Amino acid sequence: MDPMMIVILAVLAFIVTYMAVSAMKSRQELIKKKVIVTQLKCNSCDYSERREFKEGDYVGKEAGECPKCGGKLLVDAIYLEEVEDIPGFGPGVSMPKQSKPPRIQK
Ligand SMILES: [Zn+2]
Repeated sequence: MDPMMIVILAVLAFIVTYMAVSAMKSRQELIKKKVIVTQLKCNSCDYSERREFKEGDYVGKEAGECPKCGGKLLVDAIYLEEVEDIPGFGPGVSMPKQSKPPRIQK
């Protein structure tokens, strides 16, 4: 076997190992991040939605109009939720995975 070929194979093996290790590392770097979530609920129907907490939110506060029936949207609950944060993806991943809970039809 050509000694040059062995060197190339060794370098390739090193690169593959390095990539595998760094891929594992980045997976371990998934940080559980705590996000304050505001749960909004319609006063008149069963519509509810969740969004990131904004300063000034409090339980019982009017938070706009219900997109379903036009009724009052009120802050129903404010709570801490753990979300997976992937470093390097920017602030876009700070929202909970399911920002829209499934609508329950009565
Ligand atoms: Zn409604």
